[in-house]
Amino acid sequence: DFGVIADLVRHHAEQTPDHLALVDPDRTLTYAQLDTLMDRIAASLQRDGFEAGDAIAICGLMTAPYAAVFLGALRAGVVVAPLAPGSTPPSIVKMLADADAKLLFWDASATDTLALAKTPRVGLDGGLEAWLVPEGTKPARVVPEPSWPFNIIYSSGTTGEPKGIVQPHGMRWGHVRRGATYQYGGPEGVTLLSTPLYSNTTLVVFFPTITWGGTAVLMPKFDAGGYLKLAEKHRVTHTMLVPVQYQRLMAHPDFDRYDLSSFKYKFSTSAPFGAALKADVLKRWPGGLVEFYGMTEGGGTCILEAHLHPTKLHTVGKPADNHDIRLIDDNGVEVARGEAGEVVGHSPIMMTGYHGQPEKTRDAEWYDPAGKRFIRTGDVGRFDEDGFLTLFDRKKDMVISGGFNIYPSDLEAVLRKHEAVFDAAVVGVPSEQWGETPVAFVVRQPGATVDAETLLQWTNDQVGKTQRLAGLQWIDELPRSAIGKVLKRELRDQYAKK
Ligand code: ATP
Ligand code: MG
Repeated sequence: DFGVIADLVRHHAEQTPDHLALVDPDRTLTYAQLDTLMDRIAASLQRDGFEAGDAIAICGLMTAPYAAVFLGALRAGVVVAPLAPGSTPPSIVKMLADADAKLLFWDASATDTLALAKTPRVGLDGGLEAWLVPEGTKPARVVPEPSWPFNIIYSSGTTGEPKGIVQPHGMRWGHVRRGATYQYGGPEGVTLLSTPLYSNTTLVVFFPTITWGGTAVLMPKFDAGGYLKLAEKHRVTHTMLVPVQYQRLMAHPDFDRYDLSSFKYKFSTSAPFGAALKADVLKRWPGGLVEFYGMTEGGGTCILEAHLHPTKLHTVGKPADNHDIRLIDDNGVEVARGEAGEVVGHSPIMMTGYHGQPEKTRDAEWYDPAGKRFIRTGDVGRFDEDGFLTLFDRKKDMVISGGFNIYPSDLEAVLRKHEAVFDAAVVGVPSEQWGETPVAFVVRQPGATVDAETLLQWTNDQVGKTQRLAGLQWIDELPRSAIGKVLKRELRDQYAKK
């Protein structure tokens, strides 16, 4: 079972030419227009000497031209490396070299980021038209194999340097197939996207929408009020949001005044999604809520259909179809049923490897005694008696204090129960006595007056002796990556500087 995404766009251009494929704040593209533009992009790349397997990079805001370049390159078998405009100039240079990108598509939002980049470039906000071959020029047909690289996605860099993850065509097709389960497609599907296109978070929803002939509404810069207006205006049926966006939306004073009855499914992934927040979304926002746990590397995906399992909101659900997910200890041995361990996963949709980094790739792999290949997630979890996975923390974020393992997520869950707490993150900091000790950074609810000492005491009264917080600090906002992940390494640095 394998389909070619670019060919399916052609199919929709023939069947529903005037149906909207892409909508951004400045323009719209119908399927016929998108298909023509993809042809011109593919033919222009071929004119410039691009062959299947060569790479381009894209760095800029999520707009219709950006999406069209991504899709057009695929039609020529060209590999796409979408890069985060929020990266530092030196790291962008590294990624361009790592991906071996021969051409860079960019817009003004990335001007500073690209200050050091020498790769030849084409502007997406002006410049694209001049680079394109004349309308009507057809590209030579390229038919990809499932094993060909589709895109290189740089990991979020939450735990260290970003790694270039090579996802093959077959893997992307697997995501598209999964999308069918949730009815993204057909002329009636309207997906609102407000996370960036360089993240797999967005791509796992974007490609199904386009492949199945729906409309993708692109919101290049998220704000809760703007999101709600767009959702109502376009009668949105599907969306992908990271937990911090749900948090902002549910806290928006006018949330309940918008008509969101058009929604069929909402998705989430990327970061821990608190059970109370999930419950609030289920109560106040029509349609299903589906949480994915997984990583760009693939393999370890779990799915929680929250609307079907209201008693399992504290979990990330069950392994996706055809996924084999196991838990291993520090010695690489599977743990006993019911015990916690590092999550490793095998599935039909896994990365080929980290680009140009065979050693890192090997470090990320685990083989079972029968020789089956799994990918290590670096996350710690435990299966309950019904087969639902509860996720604790990333191994790197676990605090080992006086020989005891402390899960920051346990302490964060306790803190979040306090009415004065809007958000909280717990990290381990060096301690002479214990090696490491947990401290909390807390964002207060607007108007809350509790003092730090009282909240610390209140928390420590509810946890075991070996788990107690050694300190608690207020913070205006938790430091987060562009995709909404809490950057715990920044919190540790911040604490060290105090
Ligand atoms: P890097 O590997 O560079 O440190 P990253 O791991 O954050 O970055 P991604 O592949 O974008 O890069 O994210 C995968 C990670 O995100 C998972 O390993 C897990 O820690 C976290 N994650 C994903 N989905 C969920 C979820 N539903 N709940 C909790 N955590 C999640
Ligand atoms: Mg990772």
